[in-house]
Amino acid sequence: MRGWTRRQALAGGLALLAAGRQALAAPAPASPVTAFVNVNVLPMDRQRVLRGQTVIVADGLIRAIGRGIAVPSGARRIDGGGTAFLLPGLADMHNHSDSRQDLAVQLACGITTSLNMGEARNSFVGRTRAAVARGDVPGPRVFAALAVDGSPQYGHLVVRTPDEARAALIVARANGYDFIKVYNNLSAECFAVLAREGPAMGLPIVGHGVTAVGLAGQIAAGQAMVAHLEEFFYTFFPQPPESAPNAAPDEAAIPAAVALAKQAGTFIVADLVTYGTIASQWGKPEQVQAFLAAPEARYLAPAYRFSWPREGYARKAGSLDDRVRFLRVFAYALEQAGVPLLSGTDSPDIPGLVPGFALHGNLDRLVAAGFSRHAALETATRRAGEFIAKTHPGGMPFGTVTPGSRADLILASANPLDDLATLRRPAGVMAGGRWHDAPALAAMLADVAAGYAMPG
Ligand SMILES: [Zn+2]
Repeated sequence: MRGWTRRQALAGGLALLAAGRQALAAPAPASPVTAFVNVNVLPMDRQRVLRGQTVIVADGLIRAIGRGIAVPSGARRIDGGGTAFLLPGLADMHNHSDSRQDLAVQLACGITTSLNMGEARNSFVGRTRAAVARGDVPGPRVFAALAVDGSPQYGHLVVRTPDEARAALIVARANGYDFIKVYNNLSAECFAVLAREGPAMGLPIVGHGVTAVGLAGQIAAGQAMVAHLEEFFYTFFPQPPESAPNAAPDEAAIPAAVALAKQAGTFIVADLVTYGTIASQWGKPEQVQAFLAAPEARYLAPAYRFSWPREGYARKAGSLDDRVRFLRVFAYALEQAGVPLLSGTDSPDIPGLVPGFALHGNLDRLVAAGFSRHAALETATRRAGEFIAKTHPGGMPFGTVTPGSRADLILASANPLDDLATLRRPAGVMAGGRWHDAPALAAMLADVAAGYAMPG
């Protein structure tokens, strides 16, 4: 996102947010042992389905998977009836959600891992995340990046000298951040300090293209993740002519970008939904009103009801459609080459992208770009686990249904490989071993909507 309005808009919504917070349901207690029986497992480690399985979960971990394995006495049984599918919970690896309500909505949408990519409130990074980890607040496991820029243009924390960059690393570490998100206007020397010294402090570098460095230099310097596919437009591909600012690059430039990412093993957030949603409202204010009238807008914090119509995209001229088409081709080329791709959304900062719901929109767009449903799901499951394992080694594995992995699971009533839509209405979601069945998830959504309903 390259806009600004969020902070101003939040001020107007805080009172309503606080009111909504009271209504959230208490989280389900963690049962010592849970057994999923008669389930078909989509493990996501490779392309396969394991039929008629029993999956044992204890102490927040997947302990065993097999046909006809014994269910420990006293275990809670969740019966899939032979038709339900169990797969890893989903990961939205680029969003700006920082409220308990957003966490509840994400969880109800099957998200069990969330990466906040900047501008989260301190209370969220320090306190709310800890409450989720303890089980006091229902939600996905949350990682957080501190956004650092070289000027106040986009409203981020500013560092202008190497010493200030080092100070930002110290502050990020002290506050429990997991990543540094580099932003457009960083100086080359500040970027170099962050890229060289951040990883050793447990703060790998993720983020945008930095204009003074360029993605090629950033990836060579070890940037772990590019936060948007469209960053390649701004700091890698040749710039469009002034006479046609929305022209797409020549597709002949794609193989060099693919080779660069592939060689370095850099993760890229294939956020087709982000740019596609921006394009859909480009010069079309009526589209923003349609977003606010959609059913899922009930779960959008009031601050965004104020800010979405004030974002600048609806006032732009021309069309981004050629660039949207280009990104589809680019995403598919990256996937075919085996570049590790993640799913992300930028919700709720971009009008039209409601937390949780937006991730399903991204999966659909990946499929429309040519990805198999399995490949699309990989971006939101196994690849997210690989990304965290690589950037924060030694942590609890997740992203596949495998013994020893974190018990982050979706129970789907049908096979997602036939139709991903089944994941929009999970039969249940387990996050860190805590089970939320469909009625509990529906109650969470209803609580959020009731808390957000405008008085009068
Ligand atoms: Zn973002």
